[in-house]
Amino acid sequence: MPNNSDDKKAQGKKKKLYEQIIFRDWCKSCGICAAFCPKQVIGRNNAGEPVIERPQDCIGCRFCETHCPDFAITIIELNHGERKQA
Ligand code: SF4
Ligand code: SF4
Repeated sequence: MPNNSDDKKAQGKKKKLYEQIIFRDWCKSCGICAAFCPKQVIGRNNAGEPVIERPQDCIGCRFCETHCPDFAITIIELNHGERKQA
């Protein structure tokens, strides 16, 4: 009987990567994205502007994207190190 458990385990260990893009012209530095990111991916600089500090920790929950009042941040899932084409 074939056993695919090893394959499934291998797939389960693949970590999805995401890119966080901030549109600076739209961002008003309100800090919502930094305050509520569950993985502390986003920090703030001395001017209060959001800064992507730990992109590798992003889990793609898109909380930042859906709660930004100015639609100034978007999340892109990366596959094999490249941007996913729409
Ligand atoms: S929530 Fe949006 S407007 Fe506020 S700091 Fe983040 S990207 Fe900028
Ligand atoms: S998608 Fe989620 S984990 Fe990633 S930066 Fe936004 S709030 Fe943080």
